[in-house]
Amino acid sequence: MIPVIFAVMSRVNPRPLFNGHQGNCHMARLTSRVAALTLIALACQGTAHAADAVLNIYPARHYQTDEALYNDFTKQTGIKINRLDGKEDELLERIKNEGANSPADILITVDAARLEIADSLGLFQPIQSKVLNARIPAHLRTPTWVAFSTRARVIAYNKNAVKAEWVQTYADLANPRLKDQVCVRSGSHPYNLSLGAAMIAHEGEAKTENWARGLVANFARAPKGGDTDQLKAVAAGECGVTISNSYYLARLMRSTKPEDRKVVESLGVAWPNQKSWGTHINISGAGIIKTAPNRDAAIKFLEYLSSDKAQAYFADGNNEWPAVSAVKIDNPALKALGTFKPDTLPVGDLARNAAKAQKAFDRAGWR
Ligand code: FE
Repeated sequence: MIPVIFAVMSRVNPRPLFNGHQGNCHMARLTSRVAALTLIALACQGTAHAADAVLNIYPARHYQTDEALYNDFTKQTGIKINRLDGKEDELLERIKNEGANSPADILITVDAARLEIADSLGLFQPIQSKVLNARIPAHLRTPTWVAFSTRARVIAYNKNAVKAEWVQTYADLANPRLKDQVCVRSGSHPYNLSLGAAMIAHEGEAKTENWARGLVANFARAPKGGDTDQLKAVAAGECGVTISNSYYLARLMRSTKPEDRKVVESLGVAWPNQKSWGTHINISGAGIIKTAPNRDAAIKFLEYLSSDKAQAYFADGNNEWPAVSAVKIDNPALKALGTFKPDTLPVGDLARNAAKAQKAFDRAGWR
């Protein structure tokens, strides 16, 4: 019997993971004052049978409704899932450091650029699956990672302060007409970098940098908070317009809280760039780690994520659009948002431009 020690670092979810191991586990918790990280050392006298089918997932996607995905997969296949939740960069660092001994089978993230970073670090292996090739559209996969859901970066505006026709394109947000009206989260955030990356692919670096300059000149305040904070600030009249991921909006639309209803009533939503390259979409996706000890189970899980049932969880649970477009959506907020022309830039291209977008935004002063 060999004792197994896992050091789990997670700001997001400090509970012990890989808890599928049976036997006596002793847990010690230390909190670093410097980095505010919680370090959990979990020592287990492992008695799990080697034949137990398991899958080790490192998710940087933390939505409560995803529990249903994991539980349903285990129910369908008998494969037990061990999870190590964390932020993207922590998980990437961890897989890198674990090297050939990494127990990780799958990395899940909510951003194309992070998947591409993992790939460029050589952490992924090629995915060969006829099921995934048939189910997931070609622009939503690369040879080493696959997208399972999409989210649109939409424009939301205060109907009393801004006219719909003023905000029909991302470029419109840099128009001096919107001076002191724009609230938006940090230019370093992957959601904005991904938008910048798409813009670079369609319009070039110089134009993207100029756009960012115009946007910054229109700021109502320095970037702070997440997309939901911007939506609330727009509704409150603190600013006139923002850019937000669609699911934050859908979440507010489905909320029964009176204060959220008020926010939604104040907002207008525009699908940007319908007459040109389409509304920018980012993805949530996954890749299989090169050294995955449970490769077959990993393929099974990715194929499961493309199934009608799993795809419906993404839509109904977390207000994202399924990558498999034929899947029926029951989500009332997604239905109310309606249809739009999405950008169909291959997700790999998108990811590759993220570093250029960061430099352009830095030069433009979008902190
Ligand atoms: Fe998000």
